Amino acid sequence: MLLEKAPELGGTARKAAFWYWVPNNEPMRAAGIADLEDGFLRYVARLSRPTRYDPDSPTLGVSEHEYAMYKAIYESASPAAELLNARGALPYRHVPDACDYWSEIPEDAAPRGRVLIHRDAAESMSGGGLHSITSMAAAATRDGADIRVSHRVQRAVVDGRRVVGVEATNPDGARCGSGPARRSSSLRADSPTIPICAATS
Ligand SMILES: Cc1cc2nc3c(=O)[nH]c(=O)nc-3n(C[C@H](O)[C@H](O)[C@H](O)COP(=O)(O)OP(=O)(O)OC[C@H]3O[C@@H](n4cnc5c(N)ncnc54)[C@H](O)[C@@H]3O)c2cc1C
Repeated sequence: MLLEKAPELGGTARKAAFWYWVPNNEPMRAAGIADLEDGFLRYVARLSRPTRYDPDSPTLGVSEHEYAMYKAIYESASPAAELLNARGALPYRHVPDACDYWSEIPEDAAPRGRVLIHRDAAESMSGGGLHSITSMAAAATRDGADIRVSHRVQRAVVDGRRVVGVEATNPDGARCGSGPARRSSSLRADSPTIPICAATS
């Protein structure tokens, strides 16, 4: 389930060009543009943690957790983009001439080629956000997601240290809760007649 407080989906992304930055993406590989993991990690570490960046450190000066996250982006971003494309959620086109924001620093071993944009965005790249929100929402709905706009999440329902649901208000101002919230004694006590919108797993 996706709850959005505004009457339409997308937030700021709706206005954005929605370039997305995918290292070593499929069109780069097809075009023979090299984007090796080592160079990507150095570029991201230097820009993410400029005061801690250490080119001689095994983790480039960042924590092991952060370093693992950078590696995960390198490994997973392109498969994710391909999956979203294959499912029609985010059909893309490559923007081979778009360069990285910090393409001038020596750590940027692949200054061009990492940018993808929605297939139907204008040549100027405007409109990419609206197309992306529209196609992702359609694919999610097709695949069973329950999307509700004008639903403001008010608080998380917790069970010990776990968040097990949310409480939201719908357009009529009525409070509603996700499935596990129904089992929350505090929610039952606060509003004994809450409508239950849907179950979450
Ligand atoms: C003109 C422009 C162009 C841009 N171009 C790009 C680009 O090409 N590539 C790029 O990567 N970035 C781009 N950006 C930046 C990018 O669009 C934003 O950084 C991004 O969309 C922010 O998303 P967000 O989810 O953090 O926040 P938000 O856009 O603020 O989204 C938060 C959403 O949550 C909803 N919400 C808030 N509180 C609740 C609640 N209690 N219950 C339910 N819903 C709630 C809000 O209504 C909103 O829809 C651009 C931005 C602009 C303005």
